[in-house]
Amino acid sequence: MFTIAIHGGSGTITRSDITPEQEKTYRQALEQALVTGHAVLANGGPALDAVEQAVRSLEENELFNAGKGSVFSAAGKHEMDASIMCGHTLKAGAVAGISNIRNPVSLARLVMEQSENVLLMGRGAEEFAQLHNIPVEPDDYFYTDFRYHQLKEAQQANKVWLDHSRTNTGKGTVGAVALDQAGNLAAATSTGGLTNKMYGRVGDTPIIGAGTYANNQTCAVSCTGYGEFFIRAVVAYDISCLMSYKGLSLKEACDYVVRDKLKSIGGEGGLIAVDRAGNVELPFNSEGMYRAWRNQPGAGDVAIFG
Ligand code: ASP
Repeated sequence: MFTIAIHGGSGTITRSDITPEQEKTYRQALEQALVTGHAVLANGGPALDAVEQAVRSLEENELFNAGKGSVFSAAGKHEMDASIMCGHTLKAGAVAGISNIRNPVSLARLVMEQSENVLLMGRGAEEFAQLHNIPVEPDDYFYTDFRYHQLKEAQQANKVWLDHSRTNTGKGTVGAVALDQAGNLAAATSTGGLTNKMYGRVGDTPIIGAGTYANNQTCAVSCTGYGEFFIRAVVAYDISCLMSYKGLSLKEACDYVVRDKLKSIGGEGGLIAVDRAGNVELPFNSEGMYRAWRNQPGAGDVAIFG
């Protein structure tokens, strides 16, 4: 038995916000990332590779707010965050506020595997990337007119925007969770953060336990939504704790955290999760979430709306 689930962000995503052509493009992009991760698992590969490969696929697609498609910060820059965690070893790696790195998730994995640290930020993370010949891209690679106009609109409105939470936008943070044939779980998340975010702002994505968590005893979780709330609610770890300390099922834990706890503090968003038996949950309290999953018997789905 193996399973993979991915997300491409949550927010105000309704049928009226995107054209049928756009919907098709998103579905294809999700399918492509899903197939990439699924193939790793089908070949007997580790969950860690599957989540990294799936997230890389989404990072290289400008449709999503991660890697190439990252939103602009208030400083007119791309400041990306990413993390990855292995449920078998409980090792984790993360990077925050980095620029020009083609695949932030792979840098996060390098931090996990080639350093003594869990989280590297900014210049230090970029220098670490250089040391290990991680591919970098010029600013142009990350530039899209669409994102630039979004920034200008946000600045005019004097707002900081969660990627999907306004009309005519439809892109978001990306993530993947997987259970491999050896019974190991892994999770990874990558984002450009919020449009017009303050220089130096870091969300939940690179915070282990908030935006990402994996533990073979319980589950693997990757979150998307307004990061500040996910940090305060320690969402990903909370789901794992509810399972281990209170014996809740994955579904019970996810429902409580996303629809009850997170909502009660005003947190909007969702998550993807898989448990050690291969059960998948994709709960969200926003109007939509780009999401997809597939398991070994071949069950699965690609969905966008609520
Ligand atoms: N969670 C991300 C952040 O706050 C944003 C997102 O999920 O779209 O940086």
